[in-house]
Amino acid sequence: MEFLKNYINGELVAPSSGRYIDNYEPATGKVYSQIPDSDEVDVQSAVESAKNAFESWKNLSNEQRHDHLINVSRLIEQRIDEFALAESKDNGKPFKLAQRVDIPRAVSNFKFYATAIMNWGSESHNMSGKAINYTLRQPLGPVGCISPWNLPLYLFSWKIAPALATGNTVIAKPSEITPYTAYLLSKVCMEAGLPAGVLNIVHGLGTKAGEAIIQNNQIKAISFTGGTKTGAHIASVVAPKFKKLSLELGGKNPNIIFADCNYELMLKTTVNSSFSNQGQICLCGSRIFVESSIYEKFKKDFVAAVSKMAIGDPNEPKTQIGAVVSKPHMEKILSYIELAKTEGGKVLTGGERFFPQDRCAEGYFIKPTIIEGLDYMCRTNQEEIFGPVVTITPFHSEDEVLKMANSTEYGLACSIWTENITRAHKMAENIESGIVWINCWLLRDLRTPFGGVKNSGVGREGGSEALDFFTEPKNVCIQYG
Ligand code: NAD
Repeated sequence: MEFLKNYINGELVAPSSGRYIDNYEPATGKVYSQIPDSDEVDVQSAVESAKNAFESWKNLSNEQRHDHLINVSRLIEQRIDEFALAESKDNGKPFKLAQRVDIPRAVSNFKFYATAIMNWGSESHNMSGKAINYTLRQPLGPVGCISPWNLPLYLFSWKIAPALATGNTVIAKPSEITPYTAYLLSKVCMEAGLPAGVLNIVHGLGTKAGEAIIQNNQIKAISFTGGTKTGAHIASVVAPKFKKLSLELGGKNPNIIFADCNYELMLKTTVNSSFSNQGQICLCGSRIFVESSIYEKFKKDFVAAVSKMAIGDPNEPKTQIGAVVSKPHMEKILSYIELAKTEGGKVLTGGERFFPQDRCAEGYFIKPTIIEGLDYMCRTNQEEIFGPVVTITPFHSEDEVLKMANSTEYGLACSIWTENITRAHKMAENIESGIVWINCWLLRDLRTPFGGVKNSGVGREGGSEALDFFTEPKNVCIQYG
């Protein structure tokens, strides 16, 4: 049995308490490694190391920090298959998905912010011959990055890369449910020659290691991605400490399909946007609204396509649906399917566990599930399920679908399918959402602002938004003469 280690001050170290937590492979339901059960002692040691490394790291030139991040990205890139296999084993997602999406995106995150810092400028404000103001953007110090289990290395590196590029040092915690690729990242950082203490990775429970990070007064900012309830707790701890805070939280995203859409493209993309990564992407469309004139046709075609999806061993190249991330999460998803039935929903396909006949016989698999006949205000349509479950609902007008789409407490992402350009713009303007995709889904340009409105978060990541977040602006005013 492998014992993972924390990465502190450039070295792999055991947790100070000597305690570990079981790490499961969701596709088999078996424990396959042990994760450090870190506490405030380990976090404090990471903070000391980050504090010691800060001065020299922030004083490197942008080009030197660029070079370090590029070295890290190259080493991950050389080992895409090793990382993808680890991500798939830890999370349950198909190996092919991790190989095509998760790990290449982690590589891109490091490359993107390595080059972004080389091209970043700051503002100046001229006062008509009297004076000039210029803005210095300075790193904050040691910062905390906390990420979830659904896109483990992808989201972990999305925070770490801009924090490091701007000259901060980092204390990062991956989800205790999917720690393995963060552990591989520590090894890569050592091999890449990243200076000791610049990045520190502490493993462990949210309520223990995570809590010690948010409570620590020497950590200057918290960048968090995870559930809305956890985000609310973190905000309540961090706000009185006046730390900078970025929150990327839950979603209940609408997918709005008008009769005039490019039907084939919409259908293919909707299968993906509903069930990619077993529906465990914060951007998945889980409420599908379909214009009534094509509702019956869509229902027939969608059910036919989804019931043919290959489910099972994530290692199999043909697998489209792997295991959901854990037993408690599987039970939560199944309980929502039962709730949907009591709320009057009709399961059109799926609705139950799937039991493969191979090494994955005891894994956590749920058949992709489509439910119809629910009121848009019922709990199934209002609460985040975060699994392979979608609802379909007909609509008759733009006003009606806007009302239904905007009815939840969330506002992360939305897809709109129409060939009518006027309608597309109008809908995009009125939808309560941080991200709108028209005639596509998950088409990402890393320069764009990323984040949600309402209970889906506070602040934005991506492009210069993350560079701004991880720096403090200081205005300098010089009077002439
Ligand atoms: P979670 O909130 O349970 O955990 C997220 C991280 O926070 C984990 O590392 C966890 O250990 C840590 N944590 C938990 N309690 C903590 C505490 N008291 N103090 C500090 N850290 C703590 O979320 P999850 O179940 O891992 O992830 C699923 C959720 O993440 C879903 O709601 C999903 O929508 C959301 N998500 C949002 C985005 C986005 O960009 N908006 C992206 C991915 C996932």
